[in-house]
Amino acid sequence: MRVLVVGGGGREHALVEAIARSPLEPEIFAAPGNPGIARLARNVDIPADDIPELRDFAKENGIDLTVVGPEVPLIGGIADAFYEAGLKLFGPSRAAARIEGSKAFAKEVMNRAGVPTADYRIFEDERAALEFLRAHREYPVVVKADGVAAGKGVTVAASEEEAEAAVRAAFGGRFGAAGRRVIVEECLAGREASVFALSDGENILPFLPARDYKRIYDNDEGPNTGGMGAYCPLLWMDPDTYKRILEEIIHPTVRQLSLMGSSYTGLLYAGVMVTAEGPKVLEFNCRFGDPETQVLLPRLGSDLLELMIACCEDDLAGREVAWSAEKAVCVVLASEGYPESSSSGDLISGLDDLPCEVNIYHAGTAERDGKLYTAGGRVLNVVGLGGSLMEARARAYAAVESIDFTGMQYRTDIALEALEMEEF
Ligand code: ATP
Repeated sequence: MRVLVVGGGGREHALVEAIARSPLEPEIFAAPGNPGIARLARNVDIPADDIPELRDFAKENGIDLTVVGPEVPLIGGIADAFYEAGLKLFGPSRAAARIEGSKAFAKEVMNRAGVPTADYRIFEDERAALEFLRAHREYPVVVKADGVAAGKGVTVAASEEEAEAAVRAAFGGRFGAAGRRVIVEECLAGREASVFALSDGENILPFLPARDYKRIYDNDEGPNTGGMGAYCPLLWMDPDTYKRILEEIIHPTVRQLSLMGSSYTGLLYAGVMVTAEGPKVLEFNCRFGDPETQVLLPRLGSDLLELMIACCEDDLAGREVAWSAEKAVCVVLASEGYPESSSSGDLISGLDDLPCEVNIYHAGTAERDGKLYTAGGRVLNVVGLGGSLMEARARAYAAVESIDFTGMQYRTDIALEALEMEEF
């Protein structure tokens, strides 16, 4: 069996690793992949958003299943292009991927399905949005560009001035077409969780929830990034809350998308705030989380490839998923200047001589003459596994401290909040 994984980040490295464990013994290709992935798969020099080239490659090389990591090709309709060409692909259609591609569409789905989310207003022009903000009394508010902006289109604005600046930036073109429509929404308080479920359009198979860290600095300070770390499991989430998330959020959303003729196949990711009033949706994503995937998949005891095929064949009913009892903590190492910019070409040292066992997932790396260099904003993901979060965390950070490159940035507080909840 031949599998093509689209993407080249830490998430895709973890996906390739999990797929490689399959008893189906797949031959794996990755487009474009990265130097870490190259140890498990054959890298193909096609960008992740070049849908026609990817389709032609899959056709010419007898690919049995394509697995898409990032959102951009999914929102761009890669699933539709592959299905039209008679090729199997794990990921939602263009119509279903709008759940991430348009926040206004996501709100419409949630309204119709009665899914709890922050109160909001949608604006098509700057003047109306600014008038609303002037009359608004309760700050903070959250200002969001409608489309995807790589995590940069969301501002939690503490004051009217900050909210105004965010509205002007979006309508002024900072996020291109993604900012032509703006959502102003109620700021929710509580604990954040990333909740995942496979869906075949009708049935769902929940994966474990995880927590990611979006801000660049410790204590959730500084600008938003693609994600600076993650941990799993969430000790603070009681089974009742989790059940409510599945019953009040995941099931009704999948059902509603089907009713609207946009049946969802793939991995649905709900960003949830667990508030005093119960769980509410912050956002939906139409793919695996990065870096949450790096703490989820090493714990997966089931055959990921078989589950993905079952999704594509509407055959998820009655399936179960097994997880190891291990805990996992991921620390992201980012390059100098990230997230505003990123630095490339800095030599990475220490990887050959790590003090303990960890999983290393590559993201922005490049290999030359057997040496590894930085080549992007997020460079490496260091994942520690252990019998407790404390142990997993200690392993991850011990390894992090022995890795080095010029300007290396990382957070020192990943999973810290969870340690006090551990019982021994
Ligand atoms: P983009 O769409 O630009 O790619 P994104 O999808 O990553 O960004 P969100 O996940 O919607 O954006 O928001 C980013 C972060 O902002 C969330 O993880 C959360 O911390 C915060 N946030 C978003 N909406 C709210 C809200 N209503 N209340 C409080 N915090 C929020």
